Amino acid sequence: MRPVTKGEAPDQELKRYQDAEQYLEERLGAYCSFCEMPISHVPEVEHKEAKTKGGEEMSWGNLLLSCKYCNTRKGTIVKRGDKEKYLWPDEDDTFHAFLYEDDIPKLNEEYLLLQGKQVRQKAENLFRLVKLDNIPFTPAVKDRRYAVRNEARNYALGSKQGWDKIKKSAEREEYLQIIEMLAQSSGFFSVWMNVFKDDMEVRQILINAFKGTKKEYCNG
Ligand SMILES: [Zn+2]
Repeated sequence: MRPVTKGEAPDQELKRYQDAEQYLEERLGAYCSFCEMPISHVPEVEHKEAKTKGGEEMSWGNLLLSCKYCNTRKGTIVKRGDKEKYLWPDEDDTFHAFLYEDDIPKLNEEYLLLQGKQVRQKAENLFRLVKLDNIPFTPAVKDRRYAVRNEARNYALGSKQGWDKIKKSAEREEYLQIIEMLAQSSGFFSVWMNVFKDDMEVRQILINAFKGTKKEYCNG
């Protein structure tokens, strides 16, 4: 899950929590903070601690962007004071907490073992909260995350294949630009980072292409 940095609260006082959308989008891009899906409609401003369960409605620290699939699943489960039970992409190293090697994300057990029980539990809680590994087996389950993530994976895999052929040629810079644009439009930062896990040059381009990415967690 892409770790992000939102920066300080906007100078302009928020009159309604929905007003935070433009600032969050400007700083983080129009991607879901949880599943990383690009959002073509207006992203939903998400409260980490649910506003109907005592969470602060206007507090910048309590806000993220979400797709409707993650937001619906998260619902109002996290009540005031429960934030510490979860990892959060704008506070914690969520980059290493999950793996995107297959078509379904999973907990990075090897990494989490080193972080201790508490962090592992927080990672699992977040993972379950938004049901990051959900597969909609029937059309009645409205969840496009699985399909769109795999579309992005196919773009990333295709790009990697092309890049391996082109990187020593004169066209390399143009091809890098195409990779950057394709990654930005198909989203799923972590999927791209995994496909290019052995290519520091492309990874650096991806880290810079997705604005608001917390770089120190993604390097190395
Ligand atoms: Zn989402």
